[in-house]
Amino acid sequence: MIVYRNLIGGELRPAADGRTLDSVNPATGETWARIPRSGPAEAEAAVAAARAALPRWAAMPALGRARYLRQVADLFTRHADELARLETTDNGRVLRDTLHRDLPGMAFLWQLAAGQVLDAVKGDTVLLGPDALGLTRREPYGVVACVIPWNSPVSTFSAKAAFALAAGNTVVVKPAEQASASVLRLAELLAEVFPPGVLNIVAGLGEEVGEALVGHRGVQKVSLTGSTETALRITRTAGVKPMTFELGGKSPVIVFDDADLDRAVDGVTVNSIYTGNAGQVCVAGSRILIHRPIWAELIQRIAERAGKLVLGEPLDLATEMGPIVSREQYRRVVSYLELAEAEGAERVFGGRYGAAVVEALPGGYWVEPALYTTTDNGLRICQEEIFGPVAVALPFDTEAEAVRLANDSRYGLAAGVWTRDLGRAHRMIRDLEAGTVWVNTHRQMPPGLPFGGVKDSGYGHDAMIEYTREKAAIIQI
Ligand code: NAD
Repeated sequence: MIVYRNLIGGELRPAADGRTLDSVNPATGETWARIPRSGPAEAEAAVAAARAALPRWAAMPALGRARYLRQVADLFTRHADELARLETTDNGRVLRDTLHRDLPGMAFLWQLAAGQVLDAVKGDTVLLGPDALGLTRREPYGVVACVIPWNSPVSTFSAKAAFALAAGNTVVVKPAEQASASVLRLAELLAEVFPPGVLNIVAGLGEEVGEALVGHRGVQKVSLTGSTETALRITRTAGVKPMTFELGGKSPVIVFDDADLDRAVDGVTVNSIYTGNAGQVCVAGSRILIHRPIWAELIQRIAERAGKLVLGEPLDLATEMGPIVSREQYRRVVSYLELAEAEGAERVFGGRYGAAVVEALPGGYWVEPALYTTTDNGLRICQEEIFGPVAVALPFDTEAEAVRLANDSRYGLAAGVWTRDLGRAHRMIRDLEAGTVWVNTHRQMPPGLPFGGVKDSGYGHDAMIEYTREKAAIIQI
């Protein structure tokens, strides 16, 4: 049994009263590690440490901070395999995703933040006439609280912490209670890199240590990746602090009759909803909108492809789809399968769950890939984020109808379009209410492009500019 600790003020410490939470391997249902169950005392200590470290870190020349970030990049290169395996054990995301997709990008991301440090200190000069000069200074906010979800902890941690630190903030990270192990292992590694207090990590429940952290007066900015409901609660606790919110989605994937269907089939099954993290991906293409002329053919081909997906032990590189992260989330996904039946949606495939799905691992939280069809986008299964391997398909006749259906959602995180018509692709990019639109691809989030949502999917994105604020000065000469 591995017992992880918090990182506070450069020291690895258990929660003050020794309380822990179990970390459960979702493929087996067995507890394999323990994490601290921190509370207000740990939030207080972490913010105090971050505040104490702030003056020196913020005053350090930007290129000095970049040297620390490059050390983190090196560390990711050396420990990628270990971190990928930990994360897969902890949250069930298949190893082929964590090892081949998430971790290889991390060293690059920390290098990128190191390379962009000068953006954090660049201001503007405005001539206000012969005798006056205006200028702006970019400054760090101070202490930034980064609250992250369980579905890709290391990459969400990195996307926030790398830029917040590069910009001269000190940071307190709160990983998710369902999957903190990879981030707490990073705490052990990063304790050797940063000066004490610059980066702090406190694990525990959202309503305990999370609330205490975001509501703390010593925290000047909050960055959350999580659900819209949590964002609403944080807004109430944290008050008027500046926020970056990367939230949930119900992303449409629109397949037109002129699309390359061979690629589209893989695009809407393998790369969009069913594999990787069993649909527990914020940008999962959970609503598949299909042009009526290809409706029957595409539904049949999606069913054939989904029927061949390899489910099972996530640490096996041949496995394409793993379990649901926790018993609680499993129950939630199963409740949506029941709801789909109750709402009268038609089941094309799937619907089985529990031990029978992966007999070799009967204790795991397994849900088979499922597809439902309907013509009513108002159904709850079309409107609510399920966060599991459950998609719903709807037919459409015209481009305008596809846009109307796609935008008929409280969310606006991402959208996918499959077409060979360049004009149509551009019209869809223009008209879809989404932070990212993919054309003939899905689930690509390359560093260098902004990633974030519109509507209830949040605002802002993890980039250097979001972790600095601008001050204006006017000088009369
Ligand atoms: P969640 O909102 O339940 O939890 C996210 C984090 O917030 C956790 O660390 C949790 O402990 C913390 N938290 C919960 N309540 C809190 C409170 N009152 N105060 C402070 N912190 C609190 O989300 P989850 O279940 O971990 O992750 C799934 C959600 O995250 C989905 O909605 C998914 O779409 C979203 N997500 C979005 C993105 C994105 O980039 N847009 C990426 C991944 C996940």
